[in-house]
Order: sequence, then structure tokens, then C-alpha cells
Amino acid sequence: MQELHDAPLAPLTTFRLGGPADRLRTATTDAEVVEAVREADADGVPLLVVGGGSNLVVADEGFRGTALRIATTGFALHGTHLETAAGENWSDVVARTVDAGLAGVECLAGIPGSAGATPIQNVGAYGQEVADTLTEVVAYDRRERETVTIPHADCGFGYRHSRFKADPGRFVVLRVRFRLEDAGGLSAPLAYAETARVLGVRQGERVAAATARETVLKLRAGKGMVLDPEDHDTWSAGSFFTNPVLTEADWAAFLARAAERLGPDVAPPAFPAEDGRVKTSAAWLIDRAGFTKGYGTGPARISAKHTLALTNRGAATTADLLALAREVRDGVRAAFGVTLVNEPVTVGCAL
Ligand SMILES: Cc1cc2nc3c(=O)[nH]c(=O)nc-3n(C[C@H](O)[C@H](O)[C@H](O)COP(=O)(O)OP(=O)(O)OC[C@H]3O[C@@H](n4cnc5c(N)ncnc54)[C@H](O)[C@@H]3O)c2cc1C
Repeated sequence: MQELHDAPLAPLTTFRLGGPADRLRTATTDAEVVEAVREADADGVPLLVVGGGSNLVVADEGFRGTALRIATTGFALHGTHLETAAGENWSDVVARTVDAGLAGVECLAGIPGSAGATPIQNVGAYGQEVADTLTEVVAYDRRERETVTIPHADCGFGYRHSRFKADPGRFVVLRVRFRLEDAGGLSAPLAYAETARVLGVRQGERVAAATARETVLKLRAGKGMVLDPEDHDTWSAGSFFTNPVLTEADWAAFLARAAERLGPDVAPPAFPAEDGRVKTSAAWLIDRAGFTKGYGTGPARISAKHTLALTNRGAATTADLLALAREVRDGVRAAFGVTLVNEPVTVGCAL
């Protein structure tokens, strides 16, 4: 297993931010992953599991413990059943399923990071989320000290949420299994209005899976949501804040605040959520609170392509990023009474 000491974490994150880890180990097999986790646990050393680093905000002070980079490989398709190793690049996994003529994850193309991290926040985009097709997660359970297979029903999936996120650090994902659909090369029914509109079909219709994937990649690239080392708008963690899900009472209070601020005809985005709650758009809130695309004058700014992405323009520190994130969160709260919650995982720091 490759091992480095006092190793910078910034190059392992898409923000390119964060100080060094005391120890950085890179595991290329499941056995190495389990060995490294067991050793850290036996020695009482804090452990940070790192996939593609695309949802991580690491403190400038770094991490006092062992960072374990998951670099395992393995991709197996049996009919419509897919098993992928945690270390596989997620967007490549999507491409391979589409090449095999299968449907179910084509709209998740371009999401950076590893396959093993996809269940953590139930990644989603353009009308799909992994919870739609994921069947099982094979993980090392640090509490029980054994490898377990967790069926979908026990994953606790919700909007950008799961049991793994609720109980951070307990499970280290080794493999993820999916059941895809053979629709003769067609995509799953398009659930997202923008994708359907761009493709000139109605929501709920199918198109070629490859066309759906390419369309999503184009839409994402236009918003700085596909990694490009040359483009600072992609030095981010994608969406920095999750879309708020409000109770009926909070929604009514928010509507009143919005009408007061923006006039009686204001119509904030509203999507029905669980238990009669309403999901609204974090991007809308940020924009209407005055933080528009490109906002900021320092080394950390809002992306010029997407209101929801906070970005490192090249010379930022984590402290700069957090200062901007706090300014946006506090500004939205002052304007609308809604508190935004960060989507990326913070390591050694907090908003
Ligand atoms: C440009 C851009 C666009 C994005 N677009 C989207 C999007 O459309 N939808 C979306 O949902 N997300 C999006 N994201 C966020 C991010 O890509 C996803 O959350 C992704 O799943 C993170 O994967 P990762 O391997 O990079 O995880 P990391 O950032 O390395 O880790 C994230 C968290 O998962 C944990 N973790 C990682 N691997 C494992 C494992 N094997 N076992 C246990 N825990 C693990 C880490 O410890 C950490 O807590 C975007 C990010 C960027 C930079």
C-alpha cells in the first residue's frame, strides 16, 4: 500500500484546498482498504476516507490522522446487474453502462468523484439519483468490525441523504451494486423538465440513453458542473448548499418574507417533498438575496456560471471559502429567514 507522510490534501480535492494529512495511504484492493481501516481503528488514529475529493472542504490546518484514498478498481456487468468497486470513477461507470445499452444512471453523467461515494449523499442530478437503481452496498462496518452487505431498504436514502451520511465514519463503502434497465438502448423516462425541453420531447418520454447522457454533459458543462482544470468555475464541490425543504408553516413564512422583499407577484420555485413539505431552490434564494453569478472580489467567489457553486479562483484558502460561504448563508437568512445547509463534508472546519 502506498504511504506518504505529511502529505498535502489540496491536490486530492476539487476545491484544491486544505492542509496536509499526517499520513496518506492509498488502497488499491478491498483487502488493503479493510487493513488500513482496521489499523487506524486499532491504533485509535482518526481516519478520513477520500474518494475523488469532490465533496470535501478540508481545513487549512489539514488532518491529524490517516487519510485513506480509495483507489480500488472493478466493473462487472451481468445482464442488467452492475457491480462497481468503490474506487472507480463514477462518470466513467455511467459511460460504460450507456455503452452497454443500459438505462438508469445516464442522467448522472459528469458527476465527479468515485462510485463508492455515490450512496453517501445519494447523488442526484437531472431527475435521477442513485437510490433509483442501487440495490446493495458492500461496506466495512467499523462498529461491528466486519464486511456487510446493506440492501437498499436499509440505506436510509433521502434527498442528498442516506444512513451513511447520518452515521458518518461507520461504514467504508467497498462495492456498490445496481439493477439497471434494458430498454433497447433507450434512456429511463426523462424526469427532468430542462432535459426534456432541450431534447424536444415531453417529460416522461424516453430518448436514446447515449443522447440523454450527452445532453446532460452539455448542460452540465455550460454550468461549470463538469471538471475542467483550466476553468476555475469548476474548482468547486458542485452545489455548495442543498435545496431547503420547508415545513408548511416555514414555507408560508418564507412566502410572506419574499413578497415583502420582492413584491406580491413573487413566485419562488416550489416542489412537493415528503410529509407535505415544500422543497425550494437554494440558487433562487442566493440570487434573490443579491449574491449573483461571479459574486465576490477575493480569491473565493461564486461561479460565473452557477449561483450555487462556490469556487476557488486559484489562490484561495479554506478560510476564504468559508468566509464567503458564511456571507452567503447569513445574507440569505437575513433576506428570507431560511438557513442554507452546506452539501460538502467539512473536515476540521465548519461553517
Ligand atoms: C463540479 C462538481 C459537480 C458536482 N455535481 C454534483 C451533482 O450533480 N449531484 C451530486 O449529488 N453531487 C455533485 N457533486 C458533488 C460530488 O461530486 C459528489 O458528492 C460525489 O459523490 C463525491 O464523490 P467523491 O468520491 O469525490 O467523494 P469525496 O469528496 O472524496 O468524499 C465525500 C464524502 O464521502 C466519504 N467517502 C468517500 N468515499 C467513501 C467510501 N468509499 N466509503 C465511505 N465514505 C466515503 C468521504 O469520507 C466524505 O465524507 C459535484 C461536485 C463537483 C466538484
